[in-house]
Amino acid sequence: MSRIAYVNGRYRPWRDAMVHVEDRGYQFSDGVYEVCEVRGGRLVDERRHLARLARSLEALRIAMPMSPAALGVVMRETVRRNRVSDGILYLQMTRGVARRDHAFPPPGTAPAVVVTARSLDSAGNDASAENGVAVITLPDNRWGRVDIKSVALLPNVLAKQTAREQGAREAWLVDRDGNVTEGSSSNAWIVTGTGKVVTRPADSAILRGITRDVLIGAISVKGLTLEERAFTVAEALAAKEAFLTSASQIVMPVVRIDGKPVGDGRPGPVARALRAAFYRYAESS
Ligand code: PMP
Repeated sequence: MSRIAYVNGRYRPWRDAMVHVEDRGYQFSDGVYEVCEVRGGRLVDERRHLARLARSLEALRIAMPMSPAALGVVMRETVRRNRVSDGILYLQMTRGVARRDHAFPPPGTAPAVVVTARSLDSAGNDASAENGVAVITLPDNRWGRVDIKSVALLPNVLAKQTAREQGAREAWLVDRDGNVTEGSSSNAWIVTGTGKVVTRPADSAILRGITRDVLIGAISVKGLTLEERAFTVAEALAAKEAFLTSASQIVMPVVRIDGKPVGDGRPGPVARALRAAFYRYAESS
């Protein structure tokens, strides 16, 4: 199947989907992105993703180049043209193309917009969730505003690669106080011995995941107790369960941390139940 990308106002065949060499995303990572799940051909939580996109753009003082309605049309059209049923949509906006200079380009420089979509192996994901995944821990050496979903992801890239090389799905990043912040591309959770579901508060030290937000709603509806607080690696290792969340993995049980088992080393009931219930709480558009 030929793939199509939306690039600055045009739907382009994959081989012609180019951005300019002086795109500020390319030169400075001066841009933001979103990843939205596609399920049954529909976007999951589009409204929340667009709200977070608006917050990221505002934090970087990039003007939203399209109305939410127009952007929604482009997103759905990109999914349609790529015939994605289950997969992900990727959206990136940068400060645009201008002669290289660290300071902002002249007013009126148009932000650059790219949207792509591709299928994901949802059966493979479900199989991973059946067995649970391993994570390793690494120091969190990112900048202080990781709440902005910027395309500057070099520490995340290096952390994920280290995890892969060690046979793990994800790297959990650990701050100077020994607390887990989040994964390189996911949020981190544990279930304590007394059944409390714990995840780090959404301050500037983590990205406020959309899956995380939806799950917080699900947790309260299910009558589980949520504690938004930091937790250490030792606490995670002593927990009954651990799991991670992201738009592409939903709720993924974590059964090993740095090679040591969490709980009985198998996916636990809370993570399983939350994974199974997730789409009841998500929005489909
Ligand atoms: N943290 C980081 C660093 C991420 O890259 C992601 C994935 N976008 C998440 C958390 C999870 O966010 P979401 O649930 O919106 O996919």
